[in-house]
This record gives sequence, C-alpha cells and structure tokens, in this order.
Amino acid sequence: MKKSTNQNAFKIICDIIGHKYVVSKEVTSHVKEYTCKCCKKQLTTNSNGNLTELTPTFKEINSILEDIYTRRMVRIK
Ligand SMILES: [Zn+2]
Repeated sequence: MKKSTNQNAFKIICDIIGHKYVVSKEVTSHVKEYTCKCCKKQLTTNSNGNLTELTPTFKEINSILEDIYTRRMVRIK
C-alpha cells in the first residue's frame, strides 16, 4: 500500500464532520494521547484536563509523566 494518502482531503473531511479520535496511548490514568483515525492529527490531555494538540513539548512532558507513572505502578505492585 502506498503511504502517499492525500492528508489534505482528510483534513477537509475532518473540518466538516469532525475528527474521529481514538486513544493511541495511555500515559497515565488521567492523561491520554489521541490520534484521529482520519487525518492522523494527535491530541493529548493537558494539565487542565482539556484536550490540546500534541506538540513536541507535550510529547516530552507525556514521556516524563509516563515514566513517573510506570515507576509508581511498579512500586505499588
Ligand atoms: Zn481528523
């Protein structure tokens, strides 16, 4: 399968009917990363509990959070 799908067309569809987000990663029990099945746009939960675009900064924050969270879970077990 060719990977050169026209993302722009998907973006227009998403703008009209809305994104179809699925959880792509569970960082902690409160913070999750979402990917749109249609245009692959990524979102994450920010510190206010709202959804925001998954920027490189947020990716970094999430990986730190995940690390802390995983360690805490290991300690509980
Ligand atoms: Zn989308």
